[in-house]
Amino acid sequence: MSERKVRVRFAPSPTGALHIGGVRTALYNYLFARQHGGDMIFRIEDTDSNRFVPGAEEYILESFKWLGIHFDEGVSFGGECGPYRQSERRDIYKKYVQVLLENDKAYIAFDTPEELDAKRTEIANFQYDASTRGMMRNSLTLSKEEVDALIAAGQQYVVRFKIEPNEDVCVNDLIRGEVIINSSILDDKVLYKSADELPTYHLANIVDDHLMNVSHVIRGEEWLPSAPLHVLLYRAFGWEATMPDFAHLPLLLKPEGNGKLSKRDGDRLGFPVFPLEWHDPKTGEVSSGYREAGYLPEAVINFLALLGWNPGNDQEVMSMDELIQLFDLHRCSKSGAKFDFKKGIWFNHQYIQQKSNEEIAALFMPILKEHGVEAPMEKVVTVVGMMKDRVSFVSELWDVCSFFFVAPTEYDEKTAKKRWKEDSARCMTELAEVLAAIDDFSIEGQEKIVMDWIAAKEYHTGNIMNAFRLTLVGEGKGPHMFDISWVLGKEETLARIKRAVEVLK
Ligand code: GLU
Repeated sequence: MSERKVRVRFAPSPTGALHIGGVRTALYNYLFARQHGGDMIFRIEDTDSNRFVPGAEEYILESFKWLGIHFDEGVSFGGECGPYRQSERRDIYKKYVQVLLENDKAYIAFDTPEELDAKRTEIANFQYDASTRGMMRNSLTLSKEEVDALIAAGQQYVVRFKIEPNEDVCVNDLIRGEVIINSSILDDKVLYKSADELPTYHLANIVDDHLMNVSHVIRGEEWLPSAPLHVLLYRAFGWEATMPDFAHLPLLLKPEGNGKLSKRDGDRLGFPVFPLEWHDPKTGEVSSGYREAGYLPEAVINFLALLGWNPGNDQEVMSMDELIQLFDLHRCSKSGAKFDFKKGIWFNHQYIQQKSNEEIAALFMPILKEHGVEAPMEKVVTVVGMMKDRVSFVSELWDVCSFFFVAPTEYDEKTAKKRWKEDSARCMTELAEVLAAIDDFSIEGQEKIVMDWIAAKEYHTGNIMNAFRLTLVGEGKGPHMFDISWVLGKEETLARIKRAVEVLK
């Protein structure tokens, strides 16, 4: 490889929400750029005006902001190769279409959709190429005067790429090695349409990669079939020397592994396929997003990084900085990666444990508020520290620890039946007296005195603790008993025992 500065781009078409596969593509570009001290460009490929969806561009930008993927250049970031929105680069493309026409690398075609349909019925497997272009209405079959007259009369036309048949085209892919296809299977692709004065994806993509000095094209496998055409376009322009290296990333597969991951799989199995919640402006449909579902951005990044790449050992939890250091295109797999969404949940659990209790408490605060709980931060931090290893999402904290904030008003019938014995009311009243007399209400302080009391009275430790738990929690769950009573404090603990004794008698 040359000394060329690494410049990569993420070039979405603003046709809706960004699919999670697109997020992975952007992430791999980002890791590669950062590792090589290169640039990452954000380009909007909006030359297909029919598919434009308002809000999509903003959505994509917000997604990357949330995920911590930063761009150096592009739409909304500025830079020297702008504009970065293709719809604002019409004049540039027009110039390059002209270059191809002048060099006999492309031609003008007037065939209407009806004429093309007629040819398709007439000739089985019709393809507009070297074998058929001679029977069509184009600048190769019409005279210059006829062509000029048609254009002057306002006839719509397209510009097609003139692909020479029977030539082996080699795409050197950093992941797949040499991919060779014969040019005869390619059709004379439309590069430009007079109707909207816009180029198609293929031309705009190549011209921009060239003008933006892109060194590596890292994109999804679905673009591999276009790559030979792109190589031929570079050649037609005489830009072989600065042609970028290609790397086509493996597909994301359904969790079961059979076929491409789709939004329906997410709906069916209950996981998001978009980074953020998406409100479709056309249908009004709302699709769930990783952010709103309670995933931490670090978890999503880590999860996606391992879908199609691995560091060569079994290390799984890696920060963005570690990923930047370790990432290697040569370690990307050729075969598709199963979208194991349960692994995503596992990563979220890991990152919740890694984050400080203060950070998780700050995320839990609004949820407490929703439940009408106003608790001091200090208490929330303590509870989070005790309970976070039981959850994979911050939202699950409420279910496992609401009793720290709200006293039970009812007592779970099954638990009460099993654990509230004949003598429980009497024992709990005694326990309340013992606790009331404790000055040091710390976990150890309580434990020592209560255990001594149980031993002296020859009570059954399990029975006492089970009944005690029922009085404070209202059911049979929760952490260590004295952790709970310590957090609740003496006053609240005694009040809860008293109430339980009254209700359960
Ligand atoms: N606009 C294309 C897309 O939406 C870009 C493909 C490429 O990276 O060349 O994915």
